[in-house]
Amino acid sequence: MRNSGNSKTIKRMNQMAILNIVKDNELISRQQIAELTGLTPAAITGIVRELITIGFVKEVGLGESQGGRRPVHLKFNGKAGYVLGVEVTSKEITLAVTDFENMPKEMHTLAIDMKEPSTAIVELKKCLEKIIHSKKNHDKNFLSIAIAFPAIMQNETGVVKRAVNLGEKWNGFPLKVTLEQALSLPVFIDTNSKVAALGEKWFGGGMNCKNLIYINMGEGISAGIIMDDHIVQGAQGYAGQIGHTVMMDQGPLCNCGNRGCLEAICAIPALLRKVEAEIPAISESDTLKKRYILNQEIKMSDILEIAHMEDSYARDLLRKTARYVARATANMINTCNPDKVFIGGKLAVKSPFFIEEFKNNIRMHAFPEVGGSTPVTISKLGANSGVIGACALALTNLLKSPNSKMIIAKQ
Ligand SMILES: [Zn+2]
Repeated sequence: MRNSGNSKTIKRMNQMAILNIVKDNELISRQQIAELTGLTPAAITGIVRELITIGFVKEVGLGESQGGRRPVHLKFNGKAGYVLGVEVTSKEITLAVTDFENMPKEMHTLAIDMKEPSTAIVELKKCLEKIIHSKKNHDKNFLSIAIAFPAIMQNETGVVKRAVNLGEKWNGFPLKVTLEQALSLPVFIDTNSKVAALGEKWFGGGMNCKNLIYINMGEGISAGIIMDDHIVQGAQGYAGQIGHTVMMDQGPLCNCGNRGCLEAICAIPALLRKVEAEIPAISESDTLKKRYILNQEIKMSDILEIAHMEDSYARDLLRKTARYVARATANMINTCNPDKVFIGGKLAVKSPFFIEEFKNNIRMHAFPEVGGSTPVTISKLGANSGVIGACALALTNLLKSPNSKMIIAKQ
């Protein structure tokens, strides 16, 4: 426990510390909390009483006697509050509701054109209100909303710094304040890949990892890095921009303004542009060319599906893509030495061929001792990693942040 700061801050920190101890232990007594925290029995009694009053802690029977009275067991009640998670992409939003214990299961996806902030914000607010006040949810105690947003965020203030894939009109938009005023709930916002990394840590394969990297491959390419249980933000919130690693001199122009970025070569829009440019030169016997002649267009799903065929254009394209993305990822593995690497997003989850090539290239390019001992797996959260991660962002801010308003707000 810290001894500095004003008494309200210290009290809040003690409340949060005790709540986290109860949450992290199946059953625990007040005496055991005293041993872990060093706080006085009187202070613990007072704080536990408050936590019971707001519903997050309950008494559940008696433990074994250690020589005196049998201690009362305390347990975390994860159903005392709910959060709403949202993933935003350029054309749609996905929403999910969860409590403090369970992975969100029901997802709602709605079409919203997010490119124009003034109209998008009105639609977004309507959708969030509809979910919160629905018949199913109206009696739930909502504590916050969190958003996985496709932009670099000033994560403390929730101002959009740069949204290369949504458009310049979003740059500087005060998203957090706007939504908090409209909905009267705390709102937390961060970049999709950082949020997905948190989702992997709370609900996915990263529960026991203190250090993990999540690579998101879809409309863009970016990484979320968790080191020592904390999401890495960097000095300005730009940490994890793996997609803007320059891989090719004089390569394709990137949305960021540079040339030859990983994202400009390997993200889904870049791959589709490359196919469109090269399709006239592809052999008539190639399955992708036949598909193009039939449909007059090529979708990413066509490339992923046809890549299982030997000697196909699609397979060659994914092989080269896997090589580039793996090189950038191997550099991150060498730099961060994570416990595990997770890959997710539309490009990663749907092609076994891509994953195998990716893993082979990681083994080839990472420092042997590190690369050989770092498991690389597909995210278990699948296409919902953003919205599940958004729920995790809300829970993390409520339970783990020193600035959490969860308990003070309820007094
Ligand atoms: Zn770039």
